[in-house]
This record gives sequence, C-alpha cells and structure tokens, in this order.
Amino acid sequence: MGRVDGKVVLISGGARNIGGASARMLVAEGAKVVIGDLLDEEGAALAEELGDNARYVHLDVTSDADWKSAVALTVAEFGKLDTLFNNAGIFNGGQLQRYKQELWQQMLDVNLTGAFLGIRASADAIIAAGGGSIINTSSIEGLRGTPWAHGYVASKWGLTGLTKSVAMELAPHGVRVNSLHPGRISTPATDQMPADLIPIPLGRPGRPEEVAAFVVFLASDESSFTTGSEFVVDGGTVMHIPTNV
Ligand code: NAD
Repeated sequence: MGRVDGKVVLISGGARNIGGASARMLVAEGAKVVIGDLLDEEGAALAEELGDNARYVHLDVTSDADWKSAVALTVAEFGKLDTLFNNAGIFNGGQLQRYKQELWQQMLDVNLTGAFLGIRASADAIIAAGGGSIINTSSIEGLRGTPWAHGYVASKWGLTGLTKSVAMELAPHGVRVNSLHPGRISTPATDQMPADLIPIPLGRPGRPEEVAAFVVFLASDESSFTTGSEFVVDGGTVMHIPTNV
C-alpha cells in the first residue's frame, strides 16, 4: 500500500527539481500525477518515465485558460482531482531603489496570482472528489524579510496569507490548504547563488526529495487534521538567530 494510493495530484512547475522530485515520490507512493509546466520537453520526458500514472500538460500558471485546461485534462484522464500542488515559482531580485516595477510585477504574477488562479480553477473539482488537499509552495522568505528580494518576499508572504484565507473558506468542504516553506534547496540554479548571510544550522542545503516528503504527507490522509498551517523544511534556518548581529 502506498501512502497516496489512488490520489490524483496536479503539480504546477512539475518538470524538474522540487516539482519533479515530488512527482516521482507521489507516483512511487501510489498516486497519479499531472505535471504542468512551461518546459514541455522536460515535463513530457518525466511523464513518460513515470508511465501510465503520469501525464504532462503545458501550463502557464498566469493563464486562467491554461489552468482550466489542466484541471479538465486531469479529470478526463484520471477521473478526479484530489490534490493541487502549487509549486511553480520564479525568483528575481535587485537593490530597492533600482528594482524595476516589471520585475516586481513578474514576481506577483507568477508566484502569487498563478497560485490563486490554480486554486480557483481546481476548487470545484477537489470538492467534487469529496475533499482533498491544496499545497502552496511559499518559502522561508514568506516568513521573514530579506534585502534585495522584495518582489519574491512579498509574493511568498502573499501565498502564506492566501493559504489561510482559502483554508478557512474551503474547510467546510473537507479541503485542506497548507503552505510549504523550503529554505535553501540544492538545484542547479541555487547552487550558483552566494551563500545566505545566515548559516543553515544543519550545515547544508536541502535536497528536493526532502521537500517532496512533505508534499506526500500533505497529499495523504496522514495529514487529515491539518489545515491553514505552515510546514517549514529549512535545516533550521528561520529559527536561527545569529549571535554576531
Ligand atoms: P525550479 O525553477 O527548478 O522549478 C520551478 C518550476 O516552475 C520550473 O519547472 C519552471 O519551468 C516552472 N515555472 C516557472 N514559471 C512558470 C509558469 N509561469 N507557469 C508554469 N510553470 C512555471 O525551482 P525549484 O527550486 O524547484 O522551486 C520550486 C518552488 O519552490 C518555487 O515556487 C520556489 O520559489 C520554491 N522554493 C525553492 C527554494 C530553493 O532553494 N530551491 C527555496 C524556497 C522556495
């Protein structure tokens, strides 16, 4: 018996890294997944690797029409939708006085509006499945402030708040809504970035699979009494108060 046997999960930004590791772990635990992404080649290759239990759909999270198609395809292919994993996200940054409005807007459009559109498009299908789970990937930047990352931080705090308002509204329908807050997770992009000013107490970045484990938990019935909560997976970063400042 897998931990998410028979569950159907739609993953935005599911082609690689955290989203890709989650797709693999969910299928290994018995779920069927629909991988939505802009990266058609990588997404389709991953779906093929996962076989009958996976499909790929082109999804730009800023497009309401794409979301509606992705939800419709999920229900048509696998009969229902139990879990939405809002994982797609991008990062940009810049010094406050030079931070362009377009960059700010891009953060809000993809990271926050994209997740809202996904929730809005999926809610009725998840309710029709008898309830389920929505998982929003925020960040530890949705729990603290960081210089040079204003748009990203604001979008991720927005997602932390959106999680709670939707959790309240959908609780009577048996839909649980929680936010995930990864700290630094090793990917080809983050491996190029300078180390955080605040060290990671566990002494290393996380692995995508260490976030995926939370996704499986939140998609499974093991988390049946959890909603509106924040799940931090950061090696201790946000609890750590440096002694030298
Ligand atoms: P990633 O860039 O490898 O994955 C993000 C995925 O989202 C990519 O496949 C990308 O193609 C997709 N995407 C981007 N814009 C999209 C759009 N408009 N529509 C659909 N898909 C789109 O990054 P990752 O490190 O795996 O991050 C996944 C999530 O975790 C993001 O929300 C990110 O903000 C968050 N996060 C990552 C870290 C980290 O250290 N890696 C830390 C905290 C939070």
